[in-house]
Amino acid sequence: VAPDPGGDVNEIHLTRLAVHRPSRRLSLEDVARAWGTAASGELLVAGPDEDAVTLAVAAGAALDGSLEDVSTVILVRPLTAHGSGDGAAVAAAALGLPAAVRTLQLAGSDRGVTTAISVAADLVRSGSDVSVLVLAGDDTRMPPGSIGEQRHGHGGAAVLISRVPGAARLCSTAAVSSAAADRWFSEDGTRQDAGERFVATTVLPPLLAALPTWPDEVPPASLQIALSDLRAATRLAVSRGGVRERVAAVAWQGGAPGATLPAALLVEAVAAGQPGELVEVLAVGSGVGQVRVEVRDPTLAVPARRQVGPELPYTAYLRAGGLLSPPYEAPAASPVTAWRDLDATLRLHGMRCTRCATVSYPRRPACPGCGSSGPTTPARLRGEAVVVTSTTDHLVSGVNPGTPESPTTMIVAETADGARLYLPAVHGSAPPIGSRVRTVLRLAHLGGGFRSYYWRFAPVGDEEDAP
Ligand SMILES: [Zn+2]
Repeated sequence: VAPDPGGDVNEIHLTRLAVHRPSRRLSLEDVARAWGTAASGELLVAGPDEDAVTLAVAAGAALDGSLEDVSTVILVRPLTAHGSGDGAAVAAAALGLPAAVRTLQLAGSDRGVTTAISVAADLVRSGSDVSVLVLAGDDTRMPPGSIGEQRHGHGGAAVLISRVPGAARLCSTAAVSSAAADRWFSEDGTRQDAGERFVATTVLPPLLAALPTWPDEVPPASLQIALSDLRAATRLAVSRGGVRERVAAVAWQGGAPGATLPAALLVEAVAAGQPGELVEVLAVGSGVGQVRVEVRDPTLAVPARRQVGPELPYTAYLRAGGLLSPPYEAPAASPVTAWRDLDATLRLHGMRCTRCATVSYPRRPACPGCGSSGPTTPARLRGEAVVVTSTTDHLVSGVNPGTPESPTTMIVAETADGARLYLPAVHGSAPPIGSRVRTVLRLAHLGGGFRSYYWRFAPVGDEEDAP
């Protein structure tokens, strides 16, 4: 853990980076009205069809084209969700990685991201992996009526670590582990918090004192501190002294996604940085994790882009998080069917006829192009497609059973290979014929108590720069 901000630590790089924020908005006026308090502003939150896995996959999808050599995927999330298996395995399949990839899910710590980056760097340094993908996703619903609920937003992040120079060079990582109960989870899964101020003023200073400091000859670094309380973070940044404080304000807009926050701050700082600039991120949770990088090519870090999405009613938000009864109905589900259809659902593979090269979806006993029932090969269909037609239904209550997000729009769109996909739109509005859409992974249902994921179409180009 010796700091070496100027030297070569075997040249490990954060080759590409990305952050993803969800498009649904939760009005804090709505939240405050329910509790008879006052608050304003909005949070960017996961809808009923999103969770930590889909948010992480959305960030990972921004690195498409660079994931071929990934042999280990580490998914960091605050807690494992009801009905979830290994979310890292789901994410790896949805990102098109081969089944032989190693997956690991880390949950229960807000500094899991810095630990994951540190471990990933060691894996690459040791030569066991060419590249490691660290994903983070946070869809935590804080206790209704709590202060945390008004501060906690959702999001995903992705960091690709390899020897290939890219967005930033890894200077060093360090950690101080402490069983100090700054936050913990009680038996019923409720998150307890000692309070950000208490953490900032009492718990953290002795821990920070044990971390490596920058040598005098090193130029000032940009310091990012992952705490959901901006004032507490600022106080800490000042107390660190000798470093130029520049907290990435973008990541705080719309609520701080705890488990994703350290990665989000890292991405935002690199994206906003100048080549040669040093960035340090501190993540807090049962200790402190530290990651230092030198910015190389800021254009390879994708900062938060904001999609224009609908406002989510507070009741729908609570119900999606299982905090309000009755929960959304879930259709029947069969693990046998889920297993059989895995390639078609999670990997979104169609079939390519070896005789006439027609690509079709879903797979059929015979080719719709030439009628051959001969051999076929899998065809990757994830990505962009052109809208052929769509239909909007105002009668059904929404693609998520029981949610008020009607109308429901179903889209037929054609991929570059000529295959036609028939998928629901992420929101109700019908995209123009000929416009471009892209596949996004969403939570399909919780049938059988198991999280089933499937794809939807989102418009391409409806993002705007995050405020
Ligand atoms: Zn054919």
